[in-house]
Amino acid sequence: MIENAITTTLDPSLPSTLPATASLGRLSKPGGSVYDQITSQIIALLEAGTVPWRKPWNAKTGWPRNLVSNKPYRGVNVLLLHAMQYQSPFWLTFKQALELGGHVRKGEKATPVVFWKSLTSAKSAEANPVKEAWLTPETNRRRMMARLYWVFNVSQCENLKNIPPLSAQTGTLAAPMAIVENMPKRPAIKYGLRSAFYSPSEDFVGMPPREVFSTEDAFFSTIFHEHIHASGHATRLNRPTLTESQGFGSDPYCKEELIAEMGAAFLCGHAGIAESTMTDSAAYIQGWLEKLQNDKSLVVSAAAQAQHAADFILGRTPESPTNPEGIE
Ligand SMILES: [Zn+2]
Repeated sequence: MIENAITTTLDPSLPSTLPATASLGRLSKPGGSVYDQITSQIIALLEAGTVPWRKPWNAKTGWPRNLVSNKPYRGVNVLLLHAMQYQSPFWLTFKQALELGGHVRKGEKATPVVFWKSLTSAKSAEANPVKEAWLTPETNRRRMMARLYWVFNVSQCENLKNIPPLSAQTGTLAAPMAIVENMPKRPAIKYGLRSAFYSPSEDFVGMPPREVFSTEDAFFSTIFHEHIHASGHATRLNRPTLTESQGFGSDPYCKEELIAEMGAAFLCGHAGIAESTMTDSAAYIQGWLEKLQNDKSLVVSAAAQAQHAADFILGRTPESPTNPEGIE
């Protein structure tokens, strides 16, 4: 949470005042914009009682990635693919399955993923004005366009050749405290406080004593959450949802909390923390359902910024902005 806030979770009793957002994505197929379709998928998961940004990670199988390129998926795609709960982390398109000598089994359902396409010519940029203020400054300048792709897990396919063996799938996990300690321009941490929070005005993370947390994983997911907030400070990523937050319950505040939850989930994945320490109450889910239904860009936008924040903390340079989602 951010200092002076009451709770780290979205208050489900808040009125749903987010303005309806015009569809920003391009039509990839009949049935709605990219944002509509991604949001529909997330809403379906929420309605089934699954909060995609709180799903426990499967440390054994690792990060979702493309079978052909071996590139990890990013942002909202990680949440979408991981929520499908397949054993294998490998995904591919219908066409890629054919190219590997196999095919998708009849009747299998595809999962949508989104990636950004750079609008190359000035003419096409003019014809397709994209004003996604939520994109990082670099990508925003390049005028990116969202496109939807449909992928299948390898376990939905048959006769694929050259699938990497399971033993080669687990990446190197980072020690959780090392993630915090190696954060560039890291804020100070003050322990022994009554609650966990980040103070934007004084730029420090406040934490209760470690022993009050029921598990080590709970301690680390909390400290990750607060460091994601800290990544938005003006001296770091200068994220408007943090720097221009208008206090608890405001739209920027709610979005910043979603970014912190998603970013903490990404960092937990990097540290191999698989335990979900939060309870997905019906009221919590209902609160987010209303927010998402009123703002179709919210979940994609928050996930992109959460990925950016996690990359910053991990000291990673983001992938090429022309294809940050790792789809080939
Ligand atoms: Zn928070």
